[in-house]
Amino acid sequence: MLNRHLSNRHQMQAGIAHERSRALNRLKRALAPHPEALDTVGLCATCGGKAETFRDTLSAKEYTISRMCQKCQDGIFGDE
Ligand SMILES: [Zn+2]
Repeated sequence: MLNRHLSNRHQMQAGIAHERSRALNRLKRALAPHPEALDTVGLCATCGGKAETFRDTLSAKEYTISRMCQKCQDGIFGDE
């Protein structure tokens, strides 16, 4: 009985996490001027231009999260 209770609770939490990530994806799509870039590697979701070269691994990692090219990242985070 206790195990079943825990299992249900775990399933509920997994469901909430899933809903959250779906909501986040909807938000990303609503905010991105070029949402097609979210499904296409090498495109920038902000300016719609090419996003193929990055200054460093941090910028490359940022691209996987925000889908912003180096130029747009520099515009938002500042050129260092
Ligand atoms: Zn861009």
